[in-house]
Amino acid sequence: MVFVQCAEPADRRVERSVYALGTRCTVSLFYTAPLPFDPDAVFEAVSDRLQTIEQVMSANRADSQLSAINNAAGKNPVAVAPALFSLIKKSIGFAHKTDSAFNPAIGALVKLWGIGFKNEQLPAADAIQAASALTDWKTVRLNSSDTSVFLPIAGMELDLGGIAKGYAADEIAKILRSMGVERAIINIGGTVIVLGKKNRTQLWKIGIKDPRRHDGGAVLSAALSNAAFVTSGSYERFFEQDGKRYHHILDATTGYPAVSDLVSVTIIGENGADADALATACFVLGKKKSLALLKTLPQINAVFIDAHNTAYITDGLKNRITVLEPPFRIQVLE
Ligand code: FAD
Ligand code: MG
Repeated sequence: MVFVQCAEPADRRVERSVYALGTRCTVSLFYTAPLPFDPDAVFEAVSDRLQTIEQVMSANRADSQLSAINNAAGKNPVAVAPALFSLIKKSIGFAHKTDSAFNPAIGALVKLWGIGFKNEQLPAADAIQAASALTDWKTVRLNSSDTSVFLPIAGMELDLGGIAKGYAADEIAKILRSMGVERAIINIGGTVIVLGKKNRTQLWKIGIKDPRRHDGGAVLSAALSNAAFVTSGSYERFFEQDGKRYHHILDATTGYPAVSDLVSVTIIGENGADADALATACFVLGKKKSLALLKTLPQINAVFIDAHNTAYITDGLKNRITVLEPPFRIQVLE
């Protein structure tokens, strides 16, 4: 995500960034004087919430509740915080809806590849096969009476990296609203929620990054209000070996990085967790299957960018997307 528009002179902005969930999290609050909220209190509440989410939901911390579930795989159920239980349940729902393209039980494969971490490597084919066999999300047992989760096979691991940043953005949006913030941009490493509008007459303009370059600027912008905006792509986290690129969105059915006809997928919806899960899923599904899925989700809009610089947009975005940089072009999907 890139800002493509600044606040107007009469507008004021206070902004704070923290490093959490393995990424930079920036919250920008907008207001016209006098200040209608206490920025220090808002930022403290945001930072506390991010820390709690990381402590509970990180697959990378040995002491998280998610790791406790993973460590008990094949042994016993683990009772966890209701928020984690609900997010796992939601994730399983998305695995159902997306024909397993979104797979929260993909943890063993994610750890094996280690993409974005020091141990990233092209694993041996038999190790990939063995890890893929541990990704059957249909076997995950959820017990809502004590909010416990059981992974029945030793070595199975849950990973919420494809949805938890969206959930975190939703939680921050709730905090901001409850503390009197009406206009804001929340950016959790590219997972964005905008609150309110830019001002009385204009919407926020949020940029979609150039998927051809890791540190590229915005090539398209979307005009939005009160929306979640989440992009998944093959250009964010990857390594190269023998001239081949291996990125971090995996296809559990093959055990390898998903082979997609898309280089980036942006999902625009009402909440961050749903948009995050769908962005990951649509990247895995590719354009055709994603379109069939989106037909069942009328409240969701999408921008699919392919390797030939075409941005396919759903009908609901027809008058909201602007090309900032040729040769990118827009095609409205039927
Ligand atoms: P998305 O497309 O949203 O998600 C891709 C991520 O989801 C992958 O990295 C993998 O974790 C998982 N995934 C891969 N394939 C699938 C699939 N088919 N279905 C479902 N999920 C899939 N990064 C660090 O470097 N260090 C950290 O300590 C660290 N801690 C984190 C703690 C938390 C709570 C969270 C949410 C993230 C953390 N991360 C950390 C970042 C994380 O590892 C991912 O890189 C990040 O969530 C990917 O987000 P994305 O928007 O790029 O991609
Ligand atoms: Mg995602």
